[in-house]
Amino acid sequence: MNNWRSSGSYAGPVPFRLVGRESNPEGTVLDINGVQIGGSEVVVMAGPCSVESRDQLLSTATAVKASGARILRGGAFKPRTSPYSFRGLREEGLVLLAEAREETGLPVVTEVMDTRQVEPVCEHADIVQIGSRSMHNYPLLEEVGQCNKPVLMKRGMGATIEELLLAAEYVLNKGNDQVMFCERGIRTFENATRNTLDLNAVPLLKRMSHLPVIVDPSHGTGHWWMVPAMCKGAVAVGADGLLVEVHCSPQEALSDGPQSLHPARFDEMMQELRVVARAVGREIYEPAVSAFGGAQLNVS
Ligand code: PEP
Ligand code: MN
Repeated sequence: MNNWRSSGSYAGPVPFRLVGRESNPEGTVLDINGVQIGGSEVVVMAGPCSVESRDQLLSTATAVKASGARILRGGAFKPRTSPYSFRGLREEGLVLLAEAREETGLPVVTEVMDTRQVEPVCEHADIVQIGSRSMHNYPLLEEVGQCNKPVLMKRGMGATIEELLLAAEYVLNKGNDQVMFCERGIRTFENATRNTLDLNAVPLLKRMSHLPVIVDPSHGTGHWWMVPAMCKGAVAVGADGLLVEVHCSPQEALSDGPQSLHPARFDEMMQELRVVARAVGREIYEPAVSAFGGAQLNVS
């Protein structure tokens, strides 16, 4: 697989020494507190874009768990285009995420933006997220390469697959081999959607690398109503997991409300996704007692 395009200033194949499929042909399966990513299960990670308050996080966490999510997402350190937008609860958000894990038993994934945040984030999170804007931050990649937490490596919005693979190579090269990729959409000329979700990335990354591949249709589309359809597409093309933004009151969300699913719609989507997963020989976790009480929720 190393006969990929050459890159940069040297001739010859780009060495994906550690992330290349050859170094683990059967594929890597990550174990996150008993949840396996890269096996037959398609693992759904869900939760709010930003941690906003204890109530907001716990109510969303409880709802997504009842619908079958296996991992809770939530941003404490938020990269925002405008410095005047809500930029996260920071350390307080990390503490709330740890509390939500205690409450629900769901492992948590949250973003780290800066080398100075690696220590506190690793202390509180079960998976460390490298955001789209940070994929090219090589000192940060090397820092998470030295922590012993799994890393969710998001594709830079202007990054090629080769650059994404090499970003993961930085992490593995420092000794951390628990990495998964996340396709979250790239910038194209199309502006009807926030990004263009590049589902080509899934079979391509699975062929090129042994690491699991997650798809994030929330950032990939920017529209909550497109998320279920693109999640189905992602499962059909072989994604090992999904990252989905869910908010109990999307209109009031402090970030990414327009792309956040209401828990009732998330529950409906999960039921539909199980059918698609079965059709391609995968499964999506279904709680023994589906505790979701979505019927009373107003999702208008
Ligand atoms: C997020 O997951 O909320 C986020 C900021 O994602 P991205 O880095 O893909 O924009
Ligand atoms: Mn977001």
